[in-house]
This record gives sequence, structure tokens and C-alpha cells, in this order.
Amino acid sequence: MIVEPKTRGFICITAHPVGCAANVNRQIDYVLAQPKVDGPKKVLVLGASTGYGLASRITSAFSCGAATIGVIFDKPASGNRTASAGWYNSAAFEQRANQEGLYAKTINGDAFSQEVKDQVINLIKQDLGQVDLIVYSLASPRRTMADGTIYNSVLKSTDGEYTNRSIDLKDNSISMVSISAASPEEIEATVKVMGGEDWQDWVVALDQAGCLADHTVTMAYSYLGPELTHPIYLKGSIGRAKEHLHATAQKMTRDMQHVTAYISVNKALVTQASAAIPVVPLYISILYKVMKAAGTHEGCIEQIARLYQDKLFVENPIVDEAGRLRVDDWEMEPAIQQAVDNIWPNVRTENVTEYCDITGYWEDFYQMFGFQMPGVDYAADVDILVPIPSIPVEVEVD
Ligand code: NAD
Repeated sequence: MIVEPKTRGFICITAHPVGCAANVNRQIDYVLAQPKVDGPKKVLVLGASTGYGLASRITSAFSCGAATIGVIFDKPASGNRTASAGWYNSAAFEQRANQEGLYAKTINGDAFSQEVKDQVINLIKQDLGQVDLIVYSLASPRRTMADGTIYNSVLKSTDGEYTNRSIDLKDNSISMVSISAASPEEIEATVKVMGGEDWQDWVVALDQAGCLADHTVTMAYSYLGPELTHPIYLKGSIGRAKEHLHATAQKMTRDMQHVTAYISVNKALVTQASAAIPVVPLYISILYKVMKAAGTHEGCIEQIARLYQDKLFVENPIVDEAGRLRVDDWEMEPAIQQAVDNIWPNVRTENVTEYCDITGYWEDFYQMFGFQMPGVDYAADVDILVPIPSIPVEVEVD
């Protein structure tokens, strides 16, 4: 069929199989053009199908030559409904990995569940023996516990109502939005979903099953950002969860002899997760404008390739005073932040295209779903039923 983008709020409910493959192959080609990294050889990526997790899987495989197991939570195509972008991305990743003789298998299911943890452990035991890097890159609105309890994460402030500029992605208009303060229960739920508890559950389960190498690195991603986003991010409910994530990294490194756990603080980028946060998309579109003008703009793949090459897999990993890896360093440069600060109070609906990289924002947005990729014929009929090579095809029985 001919696949067109259909947006609902801040997501697109269709994805283009050929465009997603082109997006994955572009990222792989970028990594292949960089110097090889002497890094991990057997890697588990949790949240491997889009954004920073996909970039981590690609860099592990194509820069370090690693075997990868990716855990994803995606939907295959069904009837006239396309698969999710993460499904097509994982299919394209596996195809290219297989062509290059790299081991790649994918497990599709809820990473929070014990069932998926058990499946991954069995697969590691059967195929790899152990892993030496675990990347934890989940971004989820909810977590279902073993007893059926569901926690929902919220994107709210923690210190009274907070009002600031925001962009309405429906029509690129600028307006003031007010974000209410999270209740203690909402903060607790956000920490349950996006904090470090499940990360630690994974690492401990893998350790107890004998699936960790003598020196295992594990890493989760975080964000700090400038003061203008602090009320909604760093000091908001999500910031509390990230605080817990960081404390979990320190605890795991302290308590587990052969594990070093890191937080990497990454740049603000358009992903399915960040589009959902109020205020942040406007900040991102100004940041893109400023960083592109300065020649320092990066996407997920450039960020993770630089993280591996310059910060993490070097003789002594380069961390800040709090022990965090920092690839938000270029974003946080004073000259960049000063330029954003100068623009922020002046941006209005009438001048939004002058101050914000609206085109770049939307290009990234559509490309996440495989649209607006150069060289793809969007008028062509495409087969939306694309298998992920390592996932058995379910046969529907009438
Ligand atoms: P993303 O939405 O692109 O990726 C999240 C991934 O998690 C997806 O592959 C999704 O399928 C997977 N996932 C969600 N729930 C799952 C579940 N229950 N089981 C298995 N997989 C599941 O988002 P992202 O921006 O790449 O976020 C990844 C991490 O990076 C998050 O911790 C986020 O806070 C952090 N981060 C993001 C930014 C940014 O600006 N986007 C900046 C710094 C740090």
C-alpha cells in the first residue's frame, strides 16, 4: 500500500517501512565512517528500537563489532495498519547486521516484566553466555508490576504551578502553558516508572543467572538541561526519577564487584519521548537553530558514537564531578545557552520560523517514523508486512 503520515497529537500513528530502513541505514553508515571503537563485544540494549537506544545498538554493533540483543516493545503490521517505527527499525537493523555477519536478535515484549527478563536470560545463556554492556534506554509512560499494579509517570513540576512559553505542535503557535505540581503519589509513580528500580532488577537478575562478564558496564540515559527547563525537567517529577536513576548507578557500582554503572547525560533531541514534554519542544527547536548555526548540532547517532569513542570506551572514562558521562557538553556551552536565553523571551507565533528551527524539528519528527527521508519514493506501493528476522512470524488461525 501507499503509506502516508497520520499524526495524532505529538505522535505519528503510521510508519513507513522503507523510510525507517533508510533512517537505520543512514545511522549505520555514519558509524561505519567513524574510527572503530575498542569496546564491548556482547551487548544487551533495553529500549533498542528508537532514539538513543537504537543509536546505542547501532554503535555497539557497527563500531565495536558487538553481538547485540535488543529488547523492544513494538507492534507488527496487521491488516491495513502499519507496524510501529521501532518494529521496522529493528527489522532493518537485523537485516544489515546479518549481512555484515554480526549476531543480532530481538525480543519484543514488556521489559518491565519478569517474563521478558527470563526470555533474555535464556537467550543469553543459549547464544552468548554473557554480556559485557547493558544499555538501559527505556522511556515509558507506565509500568505494570508483577501483581498487576500499574504506575503512570507524569511530566509535572514539583514546586507549585509553573508557567512558561510552549509551542503547540498542531499549528506551531507559541502560547503560555501552565503545568500543575505533581502530588507525592504522582512523583512516587514517576520514580517507579523512570527511576532505577527496574534497571537494577535487570542487572541483578542477569548477575544471578551468571550472565555478566567479569567486567560489565551498564549505562542509563539522563538529561539535565538549562535553567529554563528545570521546573519541568530537572526539578520536575521526571527529574526526581532521574535522581533515583543516578543514585541507582552509584549503588550498583558500589555493591556489585564486577559492575560499573554509569549515567550518561545526553543532549535534548526530538524523540517520541521528548515530544511529550511541555516547554521542551520549543527549547529544542531554538537549540537546533543555535547549534546548527554554530556547527555543533548532533542527532542520536552522533551523540552515542561520540559517547563511545571519546568518553566511555577510552582508557579512563571521562566523567564530571558527580561521576556522570556528559555528551550534553556542546549543548550546555555558555555561548549556546546565552544565545537560547536571548531568543527565549522574544519568540512569538509571528516570528517562530525566524528564531526556531521549525523545519528541522518537523524533519526529525517525521524521519522518526520513516517519512521525509531523502531518496525514498513515497508514491510507491510498499509491503507493510516486514518480519524481524529473529522473531518467528505468528500465523493467524481462523
Ligand atoms: P524513545 O521514545 O525514542 O525510546 C524509548 C524506547 O523504550 C523505545 O524503543 C520504546 O519502544 C522502548 N520502551 C518503552 N517502554 C518499553 C517497555 N515497557 N519495554 C520495552 N521497551 C520499551 O526515547 P529516547 O528519547 O531515546 O529515550 C531513551 C532514554 O534517553 C530515556 O531515559 C530518556 O529520558 C533519555 N534522554 C532523552 C533525551 C531526549 O531529548 N530525547 C535527552 C537525554 C536523555
